[in-house]
Amino acid sequence: MITSTPAGLLCEAGGFYVDPWEPVQRAVITHAHADHARAGSRSYLCAAGGETVLRRRISDAVIEAVPYGRQIAIGETRVSFHPAGHILGSAQIRIEHRGEVWVVSGDYKRQTDPTCAAFEPIRCDTFITEATFALPIYTWDAPSSVIDEIVDWWRANREDGRPSVLFCYVLGKAQRVLAELRNRADGPIHLHGAVVGMTDSYREAGIAMAPAERITEDLRGKALERSLVLAPLSARGTAWMRRLPRASLAFASGLMRVRGVRRQRAFDRGFVLSDHADWRALLDTVAETGATRVLATHGWSEALARYLAEKRGLDTGTIATAYEGEAGELSAAQEAG
Ligand SMILES: [Zn+2]
Ligand SMILES: [Zn+2]
Repeated sequence: MITSTPAGLLCEAGGFYVDPWEPVQRAVITHAHADHARAGSRSYLCAAGGETVLRRRISDAVIEAVPYGRQIAIGETRVSFHPAGHILGSAQIRIEHRGEVWVVSGDYKRQTDPTCAAFEPIRCDTFITEATFALPIYTWDAPSSVIDEIVDWWRANREDGRPSVLFCYVLGKAQRVLAELRNRADGPIHLHGAVVGMTDSYREAGIAMAPAERITEDLRGKALERSLVLAPLSARGTAWMRRLPRASLAFASGLMRVRGVRRQRAFDRGFVLSDHADWRALLDTVAETGATRVLATHGWSEALARYLAEKRGLDTGTIATAYEGEAGELSAAQEAG
């Protein structure tokens, strides 16, 4: 029902693409991360909750939004969006054609996240799953304990008169941290300019978060020494950082599970907070869908496909996509220095 083409994942029976990486007539979008929602297509269809962030990403596009769970007819198929628990408005896409059901997961996680609806397992015949962190080494602790660690690190830095710079994804992770800190922040929070737009979109969508202020040109040094600063990884090593002398640098990502990665990138701290499913959650989710066929994409797709075939007896494969996820962010930042 879905094949990988040079433009993206094509559903021929429906005449649409899911998260295409080239411009197409009709794009059905799982979520607004840049590698899944690219500009240039004639029209976009997304879950209702994701419209505000998608609009910010591709502002002049024709965007139609459908509430979670509502089935609509597209071509010969019936299509519906279901919560993926990844970022605000993120969705799995369920496609039904002649009694057969496929689900494209997009990116997803099973942990609680105050900024988005919880993942719903959907029964299907074929499940196209992300595999960003599909290795047994990737296990996540409860988000509340990771937030405790962030709060403690920030407090210790504050007592030391050092700003705390937490690098994180500008869409999703930054707002999740702000929402988790809503009743816990005991100092000022500041945002790099790149984080402001998406944070505004979340507020417009009604997501409750800790107050945070944009860092303006004149804001530097002493004025920020008690602050928690949220910034994209791409800000690291740029002139912008000079306003934050002696800052303690941390990165919030599933990648921080691997100690060597943190050391190699010289972060003072790594917080293991991911918007993707960990190994165990991937396996549980696959089981809950009841799918007999699983196609893995993104990250460690071959490892996941092999495991599911050998240990669970499922019909598995990988499907080529141009999605990058958190690993992409780190390598992009690395290339940029
Ligand atoms: Zn994503
Ligand atoms: Zn992704």
